[in-house]
Amino acid sequence: MREVLLITGGSRGIGAATVRLAARAGQVVAFSYREARDAAHALCDEVAAFGGEAHAFRADVASESDILQLFTEVDHLGTLKGLVNNAGIAERQTRLVDMDLARLRRVFETNLIGSMLCAREAVKRMSTRLGGSGGGIVNVSSAASRLGSPGEYVDYAASKGGLDTFTLGLAKEVALEGIRVNAVRPGLIYTDIHDSYGDPTRVERLQGNVPMQRGGTAEEVAEAILWLLSPAASYCIANFIDVSGGR
Ligand code: NAP
Repeated sequence: MREVLLITGGSRGIGAATVRLAARAGQVVAFSYREARDAAHALCDEVAAFGGEAHAFRADVASESDILQLFTEVDHLGTLKGLVNNAGIAERQTRLVDMDLARLRRVFETNLIGSMLCAREAVKRMSTRLGGSGGGIVNVSSAASRLGSPGEYVDYAASKGGLDTFTLGLAKEVALEGIRVNAVRPGLIYTDIHDSYGDPTRVERLQGNVPMQRGGTAEEVAEAILWLLSPAASYCIANFIDVSGGR
């Protein structure tokens, strides 16, 4: 059966760049999106136009039933060989005193619990202990996990800090089961995520503080993700690649 790479949140930004790069390298790619059906299907068409194969599925990673359905759909495509836990959200910039419980739940359920549930489903399929043939997981964390994001979104940063700790633990838990678990920590990357929390010019505004004096591209993050999943990274587990220009 052919091998499949699953990328959550592939309809735009870093996820879409990873879909394109993996498909160009000949991988069969499945990706999820939450709302952007047209963008997701346009990406599948774009990939098909250069001779690649990508399949889009609507699945909210904050919903366990959506995740279970997503993995069942992927099972029909082939053998799961890799998971990129990329789907993530940040909400409007504010201080902790103005964050309500519903917001905290949305952020943690999407960025951390959703990633943990997707990883659980991937481990069930890939673990050699459970009859699988191994694979890789890359969690898309953030430089925010190191910086804390005070006054902006400490909830987002904390959810990514949790994702870092989860990466360390799971990597060691499944180290003898043929699964390598690692993470990337993007810095200031040019994507639409900054619009969603009300600061569309954040990268331009802050890039002067980056040692390399520029924001990064989604493609630069995708390269690191796919390297961690590749055989070239065969001795790397519980590693973090900071794709942040030194920030
Ligand atoms: P983006 O442009 O906002 O794209 C987010 C993607 O995730 C979209 O495909 C979106 O689907 C999907 N998504 C969001 N919530 C989802 C949910 N509940 N269920 C399923 N899919 C969902 O974001 P990005 O900048 O590419 O960020 C990708 C990852 O990198 C995130 O984890 C983010 O925290 C991390 N990151 C980004 C930066 C940066 O500067 N851009 C820096 C550090 C870390 P729809 O299109 O359907 O909404």
